[in-house]
Amino acid sequence: MPIYEYAHNDANTNCPKGQTFEMSQSIKDDALTVCPACDGAVRRLISAPGICTPKTNAELKNLGFTKLVKRDTGVYENVTAVGGESRVMEAGKPETIPHVHKRISD
Ligand SMILES: [Zn+2]
Repeated sequence: MPIYEYAHNDANTNCPKGQTFEMSQSIKDDALTVCPACDGAVRRLISAPGICTPKTNAELKNLGFTKLVKRDTGVYENVTAVGGESRVMEAGKPETIPHVHKRISD
């Protein structure tokens, strides 16, 4: 279950755990509105969940993604081009479209 972070809305809380606390909840559960310890009003904080997204073009390429970077009107560079793919995709030139169907099949 994901862990959510909560903060007390009111600074004058008697909560021994302080201003913020973490709560393990199902993703289907509603956010808490009161602290289970002191009944003070709380809000759920937006925190980065443990989801890793590939950052570099090499990582994307290794994972089978295709990344196109716009270079000009109708011109995109395929920065994850693999063997046989055109490095540049141009509008109106279907032969330059990345071979996405090949990647999906494997
Ligand atoms: Zn509290």
